[in-house]
Amino acid sequence: MSSTLNTLIRELAEGGLRVVDLTQPLGPDTPVIGLPPMFASSPGVTIEQISRYDDAGPAWYWNTIRMGEHTGTHFDAPIHWVTGKDLPENACDTIPPGRFVGPACVIDVSEEVAADPDFLLTVERLEAWEAEHGRVPAGAWVLLRTDWSRRTGTDAFLNVWDDGPHSPGFDKATSEALAHDRDVTGVGVETVGTDAGQAGGFDPPFPNHTIMHGAGKFGLASLCNLDQLPPTGALVIAAPLKIVEGSGSPLRVLALSPS
Ligand code: MN
Repeated sequence: MSSTLNTLIRELAEGGLRVVDLTQPLGPDTPVIGLPPMFASSPGVTIEQISRYDDAGPAWYWNTIRMGEHTGTHFDAPIHWVTGKDLPENACDTIPPGRFVGPACVIDVSEEVAADPDFLLTVERLEAWEAEHGRVPAGAWVLLRTDWSRRTGTDAFLNVWDDGPHSPGFDKATSEALAHDRDVTGVGVETVGTDAGQAGGFDPPFPNHTIMHGAGKFGLASLCNLDQLPPTGALVIAAPLKIVEGSGSPLRVLALSPS
């Protein structure tokens, strides 16, 4: 075995490294993104019991689950967006598994978001982070820490006003810089989707989805516990279910982090 893996195993066992769960609980109360009424919506989670140590199955318990692919803490594959529909290896079952693992760059904008729920990460703000922590490396998972995951209840989490949802995201130029100049693996957010709440009215609409998936990059939505990660130095493992031609999937996102 390589000495690197030996060291990893020992550090995990001895507590020098720990596994941080970046995943929200998945159940009937999981908030689901709302779309304008002319578009088809995605169902929330339903869990139906098949048996629970009863006449239907005396020694076993199991359920049937039903939900949209983009529910709760979930992965966005490039095929999710029209801009990524013709790319090679663009779906949950065809993405090479090595691409699911990468270093985390955690950009903490929680103070800005507390003051402005419509905050967008600008290139200027990205470069300020890089001046302190180094340039975002190719293959990184860029995680936007907003502390949005601390909002409890669907209303506070989705934060829909009369003019639509209000939640933070990325400026279009930032998505372009991350996708093309930094060549990231993808971006992860604490909100219900990787675009800002108001992004349906941006030009283009939903610029982060448009740009990231058009460049073959991924998205992670509804993450939590980003406050437990250092700005750099953690490793993210985010592997979606191998759904045939899947556009995304709920998943368990784990980070290996210094204790
Ligand atoms: Mn999604």
